[in-house]
Amino acid sequence: MVEVSENFLYFLDNKPYLNMTNACTNACVFCVRDQKEDVQGTKLWLDKDDINSSEAIKQIDLNKDKIKNSGEIVFCGYGEPLIRIDEVVEISKYIKENFKNIKIRINTNGHANAIHKRNVAAELAPYVDVISISLNAENEEIYNKISHPKIENAYEEVKRFIRACVEEKIFTIASVVANVPNYPVDIERCEVIAKSLGAKFRARDFIPNGY
Ligand code: SF4
Repeated sequence: MVEVSENFLYFLDNKPYLNMTNACTNACVFCVRDQKEDVQGTKLWLDKDDINSSEAIKQIDLNKDKIKNSGEIVFCGYGEPLIRIDEVVEISKYIKENFKNIKIRINTNGHANAIHKRNVAAELAPYVDVISISLNAENEEIYNKISHPKIENAYEEVKRFIRACVEEKIFTIASVVANVPNYPVDIERCEVIAKSLGAKFRARDFIPNGY
């Protein structure tokens, strides 16, 4: 048994997820990071928070059979996965080369191009099947109240990133969280915006305490 010090890979209901960092450029009102360190008993808070791809790939290899049977692996952990863009690309490439029938999905806040100051959608496109981007609101004012972004013009950046992913022909979903207490969002308006950007739309219900 190899000792695992940081959980880069974890499972929820037998589905595999990749946990890249604690860091995020948002501080959403519904985020679980401030509430607890674990999700369904797996500690996701990374003590060192210095992922390297080979350590994550080692964890993937140790769980090969479970992953093979799952159909999909999702980059979605405590923080914003695309802050670790180079590692996400390296790990995705490894998965595509070694797990022929596994789809790759990324759940992201959509700030990646603004963070890295380049079009990372083009880097993801060869490997990523689905990207789910948190639109979160129908306008900047509500977005800022819900997500407390730490980057400039975050709402516009999110919309630009949605369009960039669509242009790269990644299956792109713009998502919102519905029924967040005290933060009403106009779901219909969000859907219109998502579709105007060329994306699919998904509203999921707020889950108290995350999972
Ligand atoms: S974008 Fe995701 S990880 Fe970041 S604060 Fe919001 S819910 Fe948490």
